[in-house]
Amino acid sequence: MIKKYIPLAVNGGIGFGSKLKPKQLAVLGEYLDEDSEIELTTLQQLIVQIPEEKIEEAKRRFEEVGLSHYPVGKFVKNLRTCNFCKGEIEEGMPVAKELNKRIAGQEVPFTLRPAYTGCPIGCGEPLMNDIGVMKDHDEYELYIGGHPKGREARAGQLVRKNLNPEELYQLVDQILDIYRENGKKREKFYRFVDRFGFEQIKAALNL
Ligand code: SF4
Repeated sequence: MIKKYIPLAVNGGIGFGSKLKPKQLAVLGEYLDEDSEIELTTLQQLIVQIPEEKIEEAKRRFEEVGLSHYPVGKFVKNLRTCNFCKGEIEEGMPVAKELNKRIAGQEVPFTLRPAYTGCPIGCGEPLMNDIGVMKDHDEYELYIGGHPKGREARAGQLVRKNLNPEELYQLVDQILDIYRENGKKREKFYRFVDRFGFEQIKAALNL
């Protein structure tokens, strides 16, 4: 019988930089075939192939050792973050964690990459991602429609600034709903922003 594998995107969660502990790597190794390949992505994730019959047990064990796991495919990816160099609270790590908890893994028409950065220096490159959040003092700015590659590379556009965390979560949720309801199958988010219209999206958000 042919063995089936389920791909999972795994990382150490949101913290000070993208770090993994030896224990986490050991647990990861327990669920991989000896000759299986691990892909390291630019989104601070390891893509691993877990045997189907072990998938639920593997997810539980990963969580026990602090590994985060996400589905692979047409979902919202985990939030790409900066390294929070000025400190957890000052740079809003709890807000980044909460936003990630709310949106990562949601199904969307095409893989969507969100990013968060703890100050306007912008090490997490929020303007070059589908959805970008930038903290400025105690408030948040939300950008959409950025794209980092090829001839279509462009910076995202500012949806709104001076947001508090709740306003930020709600706006991001609404934007994902608009994309789900109006995006075509496999339509990339930045192309959806172009086709549907940035101003149209703002109007749908009552902005
Ligand atoms: S964006 Fe700001 S807080 Fe985050 S790592 Fe860069 S300088 Fe530090």
